Order: sequence, then C-alpha cells, then structure tokens
Amino acid sequence: MIDTQRAFARYETLRAALPAATFPAASKYGQDLSDTVDDFDAYILDAFGVLNRGETAIAGAVKRMAGLRAAGKRLIVLTNAASYTRTGILAKYHRLGFDFGAEEVVSSRDVAFANLPKLEKGLHWAAICAEGDSFNDAPASASLRDFAEFPGLIEHAGGFLFLSTARWKDPDTEALITALAANPRPLVIANPDLVAPREFGLTIEPGMIGHRIAERTNAEVMFFGKPYVNAFSAALARLNGVSRNRIAMVGDTLHTDVLGGAAAGIRTILVTDHGLFAGQDVMPFISSSKIRPDWIVATT
Ligand SMILES: [Mg+2]
Repeated sequence: MIDTQRAFARYETLRAALPAATFPAASKYGQDLSDTVDDFDAYILDAFGVLNRGETAIAGAVKRMAGLRAAGKRLIVLTNAASYTRTGILAKYHRLGFDFGAEEVVSSRDVAFANLPKLEKGLHWAAICAEGDSFNDAPASASLRDFAEFPGLIEHAGGFLFLSTARWKDPDTEALITALAANPRPLVIANPDLVAPREFGLTIEPGMIGHRIAERTNAEVMFFGKPYVNAFSAALARLNGVSRNRIAMVGDTLHTDVLGGAAAGIRTILVTDHGLFAGQDVMPFISSSKIRPDWIVATT
C-alpha cells in the first residue's frame, strides 16, 4: 500500500517521461458534472475515482451519466485498466448500474492489444495478468502465456506484457530486473497508472513497476494508456465531429487524466472526492505540479 503524497511525489519524478502540455491560468469550480454542461458536448470519463472505487459505483454517478445523456452529451469511458477482458469490463460497468455500450468503452488493455501486432512479429509474450485471464480479446496473431503458470518464461519469453499486479510481489520485480538486465527484452505496460483507488486504499499498479524497470535496465519499456497520446487517440476516434475544446477529460488524477487530456488538446475536469485526492486539499498538489484542470468539481 502507498499514500497519496508518495504516489504524487513519484509521478513528479517521472515528469520528463510524461507528455508535455499547457494548462489554463485558472480553474472554474463546481459541485458536480452538471455544473459544467454549458462548456462541453462530450465527456471522456476515467473510471476509477470517477465512476467507481474498486468494485463499488460512486454515489450518484449512474444518475449523472443518465442526466448527461438526457442533455445530449456524448460519453466515452477511457480507463487505465487491463485486468478485465473487453466483455469482462463491460459486464462490470453493467453490474454497477451503468449502461455504457461496447463502443463507448476504451481501456488501456484495448490500446495495448491494438498495438501488440505492430511490435516485433512472432514474439512469444509472457502475460503478467490476473488469475484466469482468458486473453480472448487479444489479437489473433499474439502468442500469450500466463507468466504465473509458466515460471520458465522469465528466461525464455520474447517479451513481457504487464496487465495486472493482482498476483505480483516485490521480489518478482527484482527477479524481472535481473532477467532483463541479463537478456533485455521488450516490456509492454498495459496500465500506466502508478496506483489505483480501491475501497480500502491505493494499490500499486503496473505503471509503478514499469518505470522502476525502465530506470534499472536497458530493456525497452512501452506504456499504453493515459496520459499517453495512444490512449487519447483511441478515445477521440470515437468522437468524430466534436470539436476538441468542447470535449472534457474527467478524472481524479493530475498526472494521467488532466496532464494527458491537456496534452491531447482537450479540456479537463478534476473530480476530487473519490480518487487519488480523496480526503486531501488538492490545491497544494496543483500548485506544486502546475498541472491545472479547466474545472474542479467535488463529485461526479
Ligand atoms: Mg482514476
């Protein structure tokens, strides 16, 4: 487990590796997304900290989505999540009460899988994943095997695809660093988040491991998801015809949602009460990072 201050400080040490962006001189303030509707025609919504916390829907979020739809707004979910298959993640949102269609959900797993065939062809990937991951949404050409079921893959895999930290322990990071130092191979991070807000606190996510390995080995480490342009391109492709300054990225983090949204040339809304900054005064974090959203709202 890790706290907000340490996660934020780690994000700040990584700024050179994150996209560059410009930010508004000041933010507008509201209670929830309904206060922002005059400014936007479409919302790109982060999931953890905006729609849900772990496996629980954020109070009022389901109703707010219905209200935004009724007001004619277009909605896209853009989540750094790689533990669920496409059908699995959609089933999760429906279980929580949301009505998103398959075409409205883009995950960092989707973005990583879409890019996998463009990487070295014929590579045998070791998938670092949640137990029972089916890979039925992976590209047909990709050869994926569960790292936990085939321990020999640390020596023999052609590359590593990091989907989930659910079964990952600190000594595993050290073992992978040793293996990649001896024999550098590509490492694909399919969830660039450092931490994720769960019901009980913040968990370490694949981005944290990926940056550590990038600093300590010569292996090629590739990140797919927010704040990188690969994720925003996939989401914006679903919003053809909406002008960029009428699209808001809604998220709970400064370094993935707000920084990434600004770098992609769209507007940004920070939700403060449920995610990384829950229980904190967000202003010192904005002042020290200079990552300033267009809007700050308490809740979804
Ligand atoms: Mg989030």
